[in-house]
Amino acid sequence: MADPCIITVAITGSVPRKKDNPALPVTIGEQVESTQEAFEAGATLAHVHVRDENENPSSDPERFARLQEGVTKHCPGMIMQFSTGGRGRAMEQRGAMLYLKPDMASLATGSVNFPTIVYENPPDFVRSLAKTMLDSDIKPEIEVFDLAMLYNTADLVAQGLIADPPHVQFVFGVKHALPARREILEFEVAQMKKLLPRATWTAAGIGRHQLEVNHWALEMGGHCRTGLEDNVRWDKTTLAPSNAALVRRVAELCAEYGRPVATAAQARALLGLRPAV
Ligand code: ZN
Repeated sequence: MADPCIITVAITGSVPRKKDNPALPVTIGEQVESTQEAFEAGATLAHVHVRDENENPSSDPERFARLQEGVTKHCPGMIMQFSTGGRGRAMEQRGAMLYLKPDMASLATGSVNFPTIVYENPPDFVRSLAKTMLDSDIKPEIEVFDLAMLYNTADLVAQGLIADPPHVQFVFGVKHALPARREILEFEVAQMKKLLPRATWTAAGIGRHQLEVNHWALEMGGHCRTGLEDNVRWDKTTLAPSNAALVRRVAELCAEYGRPVATAAQARALLGLRPAV
């Protein structure tokens, strides 16, 4: 039997405002509802950002707390992953909500250009976020936007700042970062297996590359990420009607590749997370 596939749903991200994307869940109520629909469609890991009252990216711990509470209540066992990503948030704010001890949090292990900004992750900042996660029993999801980030991760594991085995996400199709090319994913996975043989991995493609990258990950034995966060094109419109529709599409693909969709309990065991309370 092939390994179950963990489907991550990235529900909101920092994609444009609701007026351009009516399907995008922005308020906490909409986010809980959209996550629940995605959970019922097969997603077992929710990657979340929150917005302030003007729909701008926010680090407000109170909003993260309400979202965490809603998802925990309506999606039993679902893994919560808080974004510590930079777009629209000051660096010192990006880990401000980690005291809420989500199951996981994203961690980019280097800097990279994004379409219009530098995604800044200086070495000291990465180490400090990694240490906070380690001390709070939060499993990082390592975001690999560029190849050096993979080697940086191996160094941080060797230094004891990231617990072994890490969970790694390879990201493709962000303008100015890595293009969506299968050879790159194959190389990255091969390197990861040498450096971090026990690591688990997933992959994400942005915009029109989303589905293509899901195919590669399923075929190569990885896990999948989908969701409206990644579905937005650079003309600022989404291609999908809902997070749940995107999850259903990946669940159908899993069947095509003979990969069962992981249950929440299976996803937790695969990632070495504590069982849901
Ligand atoms: Zn994100």
